[in-house]
Amino acid sequence: MVRYICRHCGRRMGQFDGDWREPALGLTGLKQEEQEEFLEIDDSGHDATVKILCDRCLPVPWDDNLWYN
Ligand SMILES: [Zn+2]
Repeated sequence: MVRYICRHCGRRMGQFDGDWREPALGLTGLKQEEQEEFLEIDDSGHDATVKILCDRCLPVPWDDNLWYN
């Protein structure tokens, strides 16, 4: 399972009931340092928490290119 939380206020953004390596999520396409910064993989290797910013904490309107801000 993949959980999306806001890394600023901690609000839960949603979740995905599947492996974090699911290609549709695009998480495996992140660079190693990006994965270390935005992803927390649990001990099983199957579940992950993705730390992003929610719409309230984003300094600018939502943009796909800025999801990791
Ligand atoms: Zn937030």
